Amino acid sequence: MSHPHPELTPPEPLAEGGLRVVPLGGLGEIGRNMTVFEHAGRLLVVDCGVLFPEETQPGVDVILPDFTWIRGRLDAIDAIVLTHGHEDHIGAVPYLLRERPDIPLVGSRLTLALIEAKLKEHRITPTMVEVAEGRRLAFGPFDCEFVAVNHSIPDGLAVAIRTVAGLVLHTGDFKMDQFPLDQRITDLRAFARLSQEGVDLFLVDSTNAEVPGFTTSEQDLAPAIQEVFRTAGRRIIVSSFASHVHRIQQVLDAAHAHGRKVAFVGRSMVRNMGIARDLGYLRVPEGLVVDFKALEALPDDKITLICTGSQGEPLAALSRMANRDHVIRIGPGDTVLLASSLIPGNENAIYRVINALTRWGANVVHKGNAKVHVSGHASAGELVYCYNIIRPANVMPVHGEWRHLSANAALAIRTGVPADRVVLAEDGVVVDLIDGAARIAGKVPAGYVYVDGQTVGGATEASLKDRRRLAEEGFLTIIALVDADTGRLAEPPDFLARGFEYDESTFTAVIPLIEKTLAKAAREGIGEQHQLEQLIHRTVTRWAHTTYRRSPIILPIIIDA
Ligand SMILES: [Zn+2]
Repeated sequence: MSHPHPELTPPEPLAEGGLRVVPLGGLGEIGRNMTVFEHAGRLLVVDCGVLFPEETQPGVDVILPDFTWIRGRLDAIDAIVLTHGHEDHIGAVPYLLRERPDIPLVGSRLTLALIEAKLKEHRITPTMVEVAEGRRLAFGPFDCEFVAVNHSIPDGLAVAIRTVAGLVLHTGDFKMDQFPLDQRITDLRAFARLSQEGVDLFLVDSTNAEVPGFTTSEQDLAPAIQEVFRTAGRRIIVSSFASHVHRIQQVLDAAHAHGRKVAFVGRSMVRNMGIARDLGYLRVPEGLVVDFKALEALPDDKITLICTGSQGEPLAALSRMANRDHVIRIGPGDTVLLASSLIPGNENAIYRVINALTRWGANVVHKGNAKVHVSGHASAGELVYCYNIIRPANVMPVHGEWRHLSANAALAIRTGVPADRVVLAEDGVVVDLIDGAARIAGKVPAGYVYVDGQTVGGATEASLKDRRRLAEEGFLTIIALVDADTGRLAEPPDFLARGFEYDESTFTAVIPLIEKTLAKAAREGIGEQHQLEQLIHRTVTRWAHTTYRRSPIILPIIIDA
């Protein structure tokens, strides 16, 4: 396997006739998927998604791919191909279109409808090119063919990209459910046909590469969902991703069968289900879905609520319900069905929510105690089938953390792909396909870009470190009135602390230290306000550390007396 090395430098210009692959996100993390292909001076973007923040990134709404590498070449982009409508594949499109609004968006009907609605909220009207499986269409020098894939959202597409450098197949997110609700299976016959032609580079979804065997069918969840509806005594509150049309279809079918009404709750859920219904992806029996307000007139055992957070994430709404900060007040006898995955890294938060809901009296059904979730991604068994059908010349695992990418690489090698033709890259690592061989060619910037309220890229790693410190160590302000003539304290300083426990005596010991620091500065002729503040900062930091073993954020303010 070829690994990237930390000493990688920016790549040389691409050799003539070569194809360059630049992953700007999704390699080394689950989310913000974005791959840029370069050929003959032109660019093709595949997916442009967001990553949702973890607990260690307080105040961050979403994380974007770093557009630095393409920012100077936006005019060279021929299209953005969107493989499917998940946030981690389309969520950053509004931010890229803000920089150049007329880049054509290419995708299936549902994918484009979802991104169009999202762009409307950002007041952007996109240029869109609708495609379907089997369709072949060129964007600049990139001759693209679209292949049906099955995933946890309908209408997913893999994309085969032909250039003179060779044939590349990018799976997007996919699995191989043989009995999907819409009977639209991953098109292995198309994979086989491409294999006959010769796949020079295969970019493969790695998310479930560590999971042995095969991902079970969506239809296998029906008994557990039915059981919830058969046994629930009062309301049923379902939380799912706002894009999981088939999961929600199963809930609708169960509700209908048990004579319940359904209301959608949450902006993304209401919007997406409206789109899915209008386009025929969601079948809604007449009269089943009602307005949230209409539920008041119904008895509890006739009510089903399907909800999500504002970004479409299922935990957000539930966590607000758990905190009694939601219009839905969970009470004894309610059943909460968590019909979604537990996002890796969020397990603690999820169990906290489950505990709180249980404490309010709810019966919480989740993947830990019932078969109410299957993954949207191909497990190892499915990936091996793909490798054996496609017989790729080169492989580049995508979509996953290092352990997933590495497990996927190992599967490729087991099926006979030469180890030196399996390229393990992380975000920003440039891979060139030249003369049929894929090789690491350098590295470009691919850091996290944080969206924080209205600002994009304003919050940095340093400010997040401050926020974590504020949360863990507290905050201490020292207001010192300094005599401009003598450079000494005009009166004892005021202390203001938050998250740093104190009483009247806490700061008595540090005042002489501050006086000493100022006296020394005066002797050395240091009188500039900023310099004095820095000296006080250092003194108080040392004192807080030695006395209290604490490192609060310290903010000295000097006022001339
Ligand atoms: Zn997906």
